[in-house]
Amino acid sequence: MRGRKGHRYCYTCESHTPPRCSHCYDCRACVLRRDHHCVFFGQCVGFLNYRYFLCCLLFMWAGLLYAVVMNVEVFMVILKEGVTPHSVLLLLVPWIMLVSGQVSPRAFAFAFIADTCVVGLLLVSAFLFFHVLLLLRGQTTREWYSSRRPYSQGPFGNLRHGLGARWFLCWLCPLIPSPLPGDGIHFQVTGLLEPAVAAR
Ligand SMILES: [Zn+2]
Ligand SMILES: [Zn+2]
Repeated sequence: MRGRKGHRYCYTCESHTPPRCSHCYDCRACVLRRDHHCVFFGQCVGFLNYRYFLCCLLFMWAGLLYAVVMNVEVFMVILKEGVTPHSVLLLLVPWIMLVSGQVSPRAFAFAFIADTCVVGLLLVSAFLFFHVLLLLRGQTTREWYSSRRPYSQGPFGNLRHGLGARWFLCWLCPLIPSPLPGDGIHFQVTGLLEPAVAAR
């Protein structure tokens, strides 16, 4: 199947697709500059909605950081008698402590909510760090797996291509108009390769 240069043929959609576009079997469509299928959003993160995904991560991170700060008192109460087996087990496995009758339902609830906030903050921090890194490198998750970044325009160029002309305002609210410079179909190839790939 011959198409335009850089285009691929999607046998599911039976059409040619532009570079960085790939098929999602959950969305049953080819998605422009597809990053990944988000199970929480129930749709793909791609060319047009990447800024909403990033802002969602940022706002979740800020909310969870606030929740952890609010729960510092809970940790201080649990650890008021020092790091004992009881306090450590209550923090690490509150369910087991509840089922075994070691703590009251009220103590369990406080420990479980505080734990959930900390675990959530760690997970969201990792996702946010990873995707900000991808944004600055001008990569999608798929391209990161293959160690390719042929479309990188430099950190500020990548910010503009990912978030639009007003990339610095998008972090406050993704609804602020910020037109993307490209059309999601044509991408300028700069030929940057990871050192490991370039050396092959
Ligand atoms: Zn397709
Ligand atoms: Zn999808």
